[in-house]
Order: sequence, then C-alpha cells, then structure tokens
Amino acid sequence: MKKIVWTDVNQVKIVEEPIPVPGPGQAVIRILYAGICGSDLHVFSGLHPTAKPPMVLGHEAVGVLHAINSGRTDVKPGDLVCTHTVEPCHNCEGCSTGRENLCDNVKIMGTNLDGIFTQYICVSADRVIRFDDNVDVKIAALVEPLTVAVHDVRRSGLRLGETVLIGGAGPIGLIIAMTCKFAGASNVLLSEIDPIRIKMARDLGFTVANPMEAEEFEAACNAATHGRGFDRAFEITSAQSSFTNLLLHLKKGGVLIQVGMPPKGTQFKVDLDKLIYSECEVRGVRHHTMNDMQQAASIINSGVMNDTLKHLVTAEYPLEECLDAFMRAKNDKTMLRVLIKFAED
Ligand SMILES: [Zn+2]
Ligand SMILES: [Zn+2]
Repeated sequence: MKKIVWTDVNQVKIVEEPIPVPGPGQAVIRILYAGICGSDLHVFSGLHPTAKPPMVLGHEAVGVLHAINSGRTDVKPGDLVCTHTVEPCHNCEGCSTGRENLCDNVKIMGTNLDGIFTQYICVSADRVIRFDDNVDVKIAALVEPLTVAVHDVRRSGLRLGETVLIGGAGPIGLIIAMTCKFAGASNVLLSEIDPIRIKMARDLGFTVANPMEAEEFEAACNAATHGRGFDRAFEITSAQSSFTNLLLHLKKGGVLIQVGMPPKGTQFKVDLDKLIYSECEVRGVRHHTMNDMQQAASIINSGVMNDTLKHLVTAEYPLEECLDAFMRAKNDKTMLRVLIKFAED
C-alpha cells in the first residue's frame, strides 16, 4: 500500500509499506477519499509549532472497512465507514464525562499521531462509524469538517429562529453557516474582507458583508437582526479585529464561539462591559467528540444537507499527484476542499 509522508516544508513523498493487520481491539480501513484541511496546510508549510517531519498528515476521510479484530458486530468488512480522529485515554475526567475532546492525554490524527493520508489505516475499532450503503462517498468525505460544525453549533446553544454572525467565509465558516441554517437559524450573516471569498460565499447563496465597509456592514447587521444584534457568533479568522467586531454585534445574552486558533499564548482584548452589562459569553471549542461525528454521519446518511455540502468539494486529485493537490489547496483561494482519491470506491 501507499501512504503520503510529509517530509519537509512544502514537500511530500509517497512511501510503500505492507497493509497493516489489526491487533486486538483494532480495525483497518481502506481509505477512498481524504480532504486537505487548513490545519494540514499549516503543518505542510512548516508553521505548526510542534509537528515535525517525517509524518503522515490528514484527518478528513471516508473509506471501506477492510478488517476488524474486535467484538463489534454492527460493522463488517465492506461497510462504508469513517473513523473519529481523536484517540482518547479513557481514564481521565474529560473521558469519563463524555468530553473526550478534552482528554488530558489526547492524541489527534495528523498532529501528534500519524494521519489518514494513507491507503490503509489501523485505528481503534471502537472509533469506527458506519455510513448507510447508498450515501454519496465524496460528501461522506466531508464528515470530519461537518463534525467540527456540529460540535461548534452545539456549543453555541443555537435555537430555532435565532440569528448568527460568522467571522470568516472560508471552508469552516461556510460549513458552520450551512449547519446553522440546517439547525434552524433565521438569518446568517458572514463577515469577510477577501473579495474572492465574498464572491464565493454569495455564489453559494449566503449573505456576506465586508466589515471594512462600515456603513454597508452595519446595514447588513441591522437587516439580519432588525437592529437587535445577533444571538450567536462564530469567530473563525483568529484575528483580534474580527473577535472585537463580533462581540460588539452580539445582542444581550449573546454567545460568541471562538473557533479560530491563534498561535498558542495569544491574548485578546475583551470588552468587559459587554460581558458584564449584556451578559454576553465567549466560549472556546476544541476538536469534537465521537458523538458529534455520529450526528454528522447521520446528517450525511439522511442526505438533507447534500445540496449545500456538495459545493465544498472543489477539486479532486489522484494519489500520485498529491503534491499538486497540496499546492493547489494552499495557493488557490477558490478551493474549499481538495480531495485526494486513494482508491476506487
Ligand atoms: Zn480539519
Ligand atoms: Zn482521557
């Protein structure tokens, strides 16, 4: 089998090795498609503070169960599956309270554990999630970014009919926007300064305003909320200016979810008056749980979001052209998700 190894800044190479055999409690998945995420590009570009080559990147994939060595009877070889990409220790407080994303000893594929850009991957059998047989395989390849959105929208406490402001109209901003609409938001406004991203989000049917155009932006906020401010906000860009702008536009009791991850140790200025006198809240989000991914898989099984999700797949490359795929994903702003095809489905 072949796997893609990140060997140096902006370099990958394909390495051959034997197909793994699952040990007790393990399963092996034959990967079909995997998507390149912004965090993969961060590592690929040598910007991640701790990730060091050589390693296998990737955490967004769909595949077919190849072999399983556990007592599970609800999945069998040949089933279309994905795997939860967080490996918890099962022994700490986070793990025992259903928040394994907060595990003290967490390992994350493609960051501190070899990732999913490989034709066959060995994982814990209990982290495997099955899809229905008839799902669209390329949409199933989006299950991990959809899981991010499910987790973040859940953390926001979004309720039917509420209004949402999203700072950043890249792939994660868009998938959160799609998920908020699916979850019953009445109005979703995206805040974005990049003209290419503004156009792309508008082409997908989203309302977008540029915060650099103050008057236009205020008018859009007022139109979306009848002048009352937003119930929920999601900050994706990691920029102080975006954080400040989102917090400013929350209504009383509003909640801001900090999705973007600025460099470790970054400190933001916070308008405490907004937290005190308006009882606004700022909440963090970290990865996601197995339960979030099961919900994302259910959404994909149902097909209810397919018409919007399908627009996220903007290019597909064969395994042999993986370096081109990485460079395209890195340099072409119109790319939302570049998929690498690892095998025929
Ligand atoms: Zn990702
Ligand atoms: Zn743990």
